[in-house]
Amino acid sequence: MRTQVGIVGAGPAGLLLSHLLHLEGIDSVVLEARSREAIEATIRAGVLEQGTVDLLTETGVGARMQREGFRHHGIELRFAGAAHRIDLSDLTGGKAITVYAQHEVIKDLVKARLDAGGEVHFSVEDVSVLDLKSTAPMIRFRKDGVLHELACDFIAGCDGSQGICRPSVPRRALTVYERIYPFGWFGILAEAPPSTEELIYNLHDRGFSLVSTRSREIQRLYFQCDPKENIADWPDERIWAELQRRLRTDSGWKLIEGPIIQKGVIGMRSFVVEPMQYGRLFLAGDSAHIVPPTGAKGLNLAVADVRVLARALSEHYRGGGGEGLERYSETCLRRVWKAQRFSWWMTSMLHRFPGSDPFQHRLQLAELDYVTSSRAAATALAENYVGLPME
Ligand SMILES: Cc1cc2nc3c(=O)[nH]c(=O)nc-3n(C[C@H](O)[C@H](O)[C@H](O)COP(=O)(O)OP(=O)(O)OC[C@H]3O[C@@H](n4cnc5c(N)ncnc54)[C@H](O)[C@@H]3O)c2cc1C
Repeated sequence: MRTQVGIVGAGPAGLLLSHLLHLEGIDSVVLEARSREAIEATIRAGVLEQGTVDLLTETGVGARMQREGFRHHGIELRFAGAAHRIDLSDLTGGKAITVYAQHEVIKDLVKARLDAGGEVHFSVEDVSVLDLKSTAPMIRFRKDGVLHELACDFIAGCDGSQGICRPSVPRRALTVYERIYPFGWFGILAEAPPSTEELIYNLHDRGFSLVSTRSREIQRLYFQCDPKENIADWPDERIWAELQRRLRTDSGWKLIEGPIIQKGVIGMRSFVVEPMQYGRLFLAGDSAHIVPPTGAKGLNLAVADVRVLARALSEHYRGGGGEGLERYSETCLRRVWKAQRFSWWMTSMLHRFPGSDPFQHRLQLAELDYVTSSRAAATALAENYVGLPME
């Protein structure tokens, strides 16, 4: 087997890269460890930046998102029992975010690739990447028990935080930057109508909570918890009581409850590996960086990375020299670190840190008061939240 770009992982990074390369006339093969059904059913991100929405739309995979996604022009910051709206569109010259679930983006991208005759192999096993420093790197994998070798010009490591591409780079060639937070998010999906038209980010004495949505019928809610929290200790009534307590306002706003159809706990960490390339292997998305979900940046960073990579590969194949590829890591990391900073800042402002004293809590409240009362501070939040320019 031979292709121009071998792509490991059919998450948003791998599928979108394959789609963008196809539009540039460049061949790729995508290798995914899980089944199509599994990747199309995994519930993860849901907030798309303006630039992500524009890119999906401009490249012909945004029609369903435009029809079924929810465009939000603001978010609410809630603290000390009062609600404060950040008008994203007013503060950023008309930009907004779109709430459209990651697995719906995946469905749209898989369909687009398969309709165009693209090669996406699901349920592959034993994937390994070889000869990364040579001009002819290779991917070895097993499909239906048969061993295959895929000869490539380049390999894109889009296999997420638990993949094999990053660990295939010698340790001495990479520098890792990491911060682990002493809390997690307890997330639920509930069958209920929306309690709010826009997302609510809430700080309470008992910790953070977030009210988000997936559709008119399904709501996504989170609250800060111990990262080792046992889900079995949280029957539905206890979850709703905790959320009601944290989200109560003086104005009598009501959180609408409903049957809980999914529960899970996610850890929170910031992680960056530098550089994002090694020989002819290019890392993109979660394989190179992880952000805590408070800033809603993970999926959007994956999109920004592959946009840079697709352009650099296109320039290479058009005979434009290899500068774009050489500068791939440097170009991506400038934006990655800004998104890291924003995600860390939102996380620090909105969570109770175990052992923190009343002084720190007063500082958090003062910061929230400042962000919601100063146009300059609100603008800084808004322009990061809707997404910094892609390049
Ligand atoms: C609960 C939760 C909520 C989130 N909310 C948000 C949000 O609101 N906004 C946001 O922007 N981000 C959010 N994120 C982060 C976002 O989901 C990720 O950043 C995004 O999925 C990254 O895309 P990716 O393509 O880089 O990696 P992934 O989506 O992880 O895809 C990697 C793919 O590679 C496959 N793979 C792994 N190993 C191998 C292998 N050895 N061989 C072949 N295939 C392999 C995996 O099966 C997977 O399909 C959230 C994440 C979680 C967990």
